[in-house]
Amino acid sequence: MYLGLKVLQELQDSRVTARKSELQDLFQRCHNFMSVACCEIKKSWKDLLCEPWYHVEARYAARQSPAASAGEDHQFSAGISSYLHHLYGSGEVDVVVVGGGVLGCSSLYHLAKLGVTNTILLEAHELTAGTTWHTAGLMSTMGRSETDYSLRNTTLNMLRRLEEETGVSPGLIENGSVYISSTRKGQAVRKDEFARWVTFMRVLGCECELITLSQLKDLYPLVDTSDINAVVHVREGGQMDPAGTCEGLTRWAMKQGARVVKCCPVTDIRTTETLLGGRRVSEVHTNQGVIKTNAVINATGSWGNYITSMVGVTLPLQSFRHGYVVTEGVEGLLGMPVLRDLVSSAYLKAQGDSAVIGYFEPNPEPIDQIRRNFPFGLYEMNWDIYGPIHEQIIQRIPILENVGIKSTIVGPESFTPRWSGNYG
Ligand SMILES: Cc1cc2nc3c(=O)[nH]c(=O)nc-3n(C[C@H](O)[C@H](O)[C@H](O)COP(=O)(O)OP(=O)(O)OC[C@H]3O[C@@H](n4cnc5c(N)ncnc54)[C@H](O)[C@@H]3O)c2cc1C
Repeated sequence: MYLGLKVLQELQDSRVTARKSELQDLFQRCHNFMSVACCEIKKSWKDLLCEPWYHVEARYAARQSPAASAGEDHQFSAGISSYLHHLYGSGEVDVVVVGGGVLGCSSLYHLAKLGVTNTILLEAHELTAGTTWHTAGLMSTMGRSETDYSLRNTTLNMLRRLEEETGVSPGLIENGSVYISSTRKGQAVRKDEFARWVTFMRVLGCECELITLSQLKDLYPLVDTSDINAVVHVREGGQMDPAGTCEGLTRWAMKQGARVVKCCPVTDIRTTETLLGGRRVSEVHTNQGVIKTNAVINATGSWGNYITSMVGVTLPLQSFRHGYVVTEGVEGLLGMPVLRDLVSSAYLKAQGDSAVIGYFEPNPEPIDQIRRNFPFGLYEMNWDIYGPIHEQIIQRIPILENVGIKSTIVGPESFTPRWSGNYG
């Protein structure tokens, strides 16, 4: 009954009469579900426009019909819902992307690739001002699952074509990566794990292989190999520049019609009730006005829960402090692949002749409530956490012992409970 009333309200909208052909199409589609309601609606669609109660009864009949099993009923409802969304759902903007980090910019770009260009990206400060600006920019295709690899590979291919598409370089350097396992902490088991990992990744198409220690020495002479028991060399990917990437992605999307508004924080999101008693976004409020839309992509990373709390939803995300240091020049480092020492919990990439040494903190510091306004914000480096890992990487690349540290970077990064992305 309630659903019927909602449909009634929608159908009494004058826009409907102008779209009878679309309604016919709906009924044709509904007919496929073969429920009583669908058949009734199909044969009396004209009545429907002037006799709304008929629809209410029809919907009720569908619930009672033996043909309308729970699954069919659900399908039917979903069909109507999405169709009516198609009919009336489009607000003034098809999709509002909130957040101008790499995920927001990438969303805008990929929507434009799909032909969805009535879009707007709202960034509270400047593009990349959240976590993205200080990302170390490591880019490897070695994933842990097919989906993971597919996302990484798609990203790599996007980075490869971005400069040609946009004229802006994403700073992609395909110097590859090496993953190192050692017996340092008694984790020799990694050797088999690496072999399985490489086999799996190669099946998916990743350009990677297990290499010997002497091959590693040829590739990366600075590495101490004395306790290394397995090495994976990934020839594709390497590192990229987040600022150039975001600039390129948004520039291309804007050329297709998308809009980007900086210094425009989202302050509220309003919803309306849907046909099925759920809620649908109707308005996005900002410091510069209100945008009507029915779709929001929340790409605010560590600030994600500020956005979802506007609609009463909590995301399973936790932010931690994550950091790296930039060293003074290191002789012989230029052009080396990105090195990930999984037992030492550290990575190293060449940035010019400097080293960026990053840490996979085994005991990272959680951020309970990130400051709402924290553009280009950084934290102090806690050497109690980073010192021991830094010592490990010095053992791996002994030349680092005499190299000074130019700067430290510790920023917020948000994680899902399973560390990897949440898909689906
Ligand atoms: C030190 C460090 C090194 C890293 N290194 C790597 C690496 O080498 N490789 C890798 O793949 N990943 C790395 N990461 C992780 C990577 O940087 C992040 O996963 C990624 O940048 C997150 O992007 P995002 O778009 O989700 O979020 P963000 O970049 O945080 O973007 C969110 C945006 O939302 C905006 N915003 C917030 N609230 C609002 C609002 N109300 N209205 C409008 N806008 C709002 C913010 O201003 C911000 O610009 C690293 C992270 C850190 C901290």
